[in-house]
Amino acid sequence: MEKKEMLYEGKAKKVYATDNPEVLLVDYKDDATAFNGLKKGTIAGKGAINNRVTNYMMQMLEKEGVPTHFVKELSERETLVKKVSIVPLEVIIRNISAGSFAKRYGVEEGIVFAEPTIEFSYKNDDLGDPLINEYHALALGVATKEEIETIKNMAFKVNEVMKSFFKNLNVDLVDFKLEFGKVADGSIVLADEISPDTCRFWDSTTHEKLDKDRFRRDLGNVEDAYAEMMKRILGE
Ligand code: ADP
Ligand code: UDP
Repeated sequence: MEKKEMLYEGKAKKVYATDNPEVLLVDYKDDATAFNGLKKGTIAGKGAINNRVTNYMMQMLEKEGVPTHFVKELSERETLVKKVSIVPLEVIIRNISAGSFAKRYGVEEGIVFAEPTIEFSYKNDDLGDPLINEYHALALGVATKEEIETIKNMAFKVNEVMKSFFKNLNVDLVDFKLEFGKVADGSIVLADEISPDTCRFWDSTTHEKLDKDRFRRDLGNVEDAYAEMMKRILGE
């Protein structure tokens, strides 16, 4: 598969065309941003870790019956994925209070919910990815009712699979963000990434944060936390 022109450079990844019009190449960077791009930095080795962790999770989810965009890992930082039309929604699942949930409702972090929650943000950098409800997503023509239903069911299924997988690694899956896309035949697949950039991971025993919050909140040992998560997930 030949790598062709760069189509898009995002905050964490570059996306290239390939000689197959249905396949893209994703290249993971060490760049890190937070607070809608206001805070910028680099996390050494992050690109390689997020590439490998994402691909591991995507392949596990495929085995559990969740369709994904994953095609093939090419190198440390590069992966082939099915080209999808991204549904412009960030789908956030929460098992434990943290981050914007704790702030919005004025509660402490660490409240374990009886049931997982779901919410959507409208993917639009200029607007700062505002919270959106299903009716507004429908009104904006972002997705159909059926597509939103499919996305919700898939997101909760991903949560069940990931929650028990991470429990075995002595990690609490606090919350995470997913993106979905439509492939050529119109079906919905899980896309983008699943990594310490997009999930909150707390060690189950010490409650130590093992994710991007170490960067967002200047907690130090950012690289170590990413490496520790890769070690637990991939066993190396
Ligand atoms: P951002 O755009 O938020 O800065 P990234 O740096 O991660 O994010 O850029 C990757 C971009 O590629 C994102 O906009 C994401 O929605 C998009 N993307 C992820 N998977 C696919 C795919 N399979 N097909 C097309 N676009 C994708
Ligand atoms: N998240 C993400 N990208 C975003 C916003 C959130 O990957 O643009 C992830 C974030 O890492 C966390 C979860 O979604 O695991 C919930 O984030 P929250 O709404 O608490 O936002 P934040 O703390 O970033 O304001």
